[in-house]
Amino acid sequence: MKTLHGKKGLIVGIANEASLAWGCAQSFYEAGAELAITYLNEKAEPYVRPLAEKVQAQIIMPLDVQNQAQEALLFEKIKQTWGHLDFLFHAVAFAPKKDLQGRVVDCSREGFLKAMDISCYSFIHLAHMAEPLMINGGALLTTTFYGGEKVVEHYGIMGPVKAALEGVVKYLAAEMGEKKIRVNALSPGPIATRAASGILDFDSLLQLAREKSPEHENICTRCVGDYARFLVSDEAHLVTGSILYIDAGFNIMAI
Ligand code: NAD
Repeated sequence: MKTLHGKKGLIVGIANEASLAWGCAQSFYEAGAELAITYLNEKAEPYVRPLAEKVQAQIIMPLDVQNQAQEALLFEKIKQTWGHLDFLFHAVAFAPKKDLQGRVVDCSREGFLKAMDISCYSFIHLAHMAEPLMINGGALLTTTFYGGEKVVEHYGIMGPVKAALEGVVKYLAAEMGEKKIRVNALSPGPIATRAASGILDFDSLLQLAREKSPEHENICTRCVGDYARFLVSDEAHLVTGSILYIDAGFNIMAI
């Protein structure tokens, strides 16, 4: 069923075929959505553009979320092309390696601020830019991880950053509900992606998730895509402010 038929959606966070955001882009496209897709920079473009073309993205533009001028150009293009926006999918995270792989107590101010800016504040600012275009209401969806709620070994500074992002989701949902703009976060179990490769001993995390989750499975980006497709569709019209797990049930277990 084409549950996103005619919906216009912006996807920020595709790096390559392994990206969560790519799994989501495919699900959105198959459900009938028209897409705008961004890539981080010139280095990323050759990996992202062919994927964006596969899902017939109408807008393909660079976006470094630390560059507000680039963001303004992107939203101007969306306004000119579509006149409005129905949903935004945000799957962006970064922390400098030294800070990510060290103890939280040793994190540098610079590393902390960069991780927060790219991984958390970017969602606030994208929401701010999207709001005036969501004239028919809309859906803002971001991606978090269990390490924002409980301490996960090696997740380091990304834990507090994701905790802040989850707080942001709730506050934005409360502020934007009146305009029928819904704000949620998906919390997938571990998946081997480029961002994940920065986390020390990530294979053990995958193994732990497989062994301890009730369903004894690791999840895939298309599984995340199918849940994301529901969440940005009108079928989820009363779901907002939620952190929604897709982790084969891992989060209910006391390990
Ligand atoms: P990924 O490496 O494929 O995606 C991360 C994206 O962030 C990349 O596209 C990268 O270009 C983008 N990015 C980094 N800095 C940026 C900047 N300054 N401006 C714009 N984009 C920038 O990895 P992924 O695992 O698909 O990550 C997507 C999201 O999913 C992240 O928020 C991550 O924390 C979250 N997540 C991942 C997992 C996992 O196990 N892979 C689990 C739960 C949540």
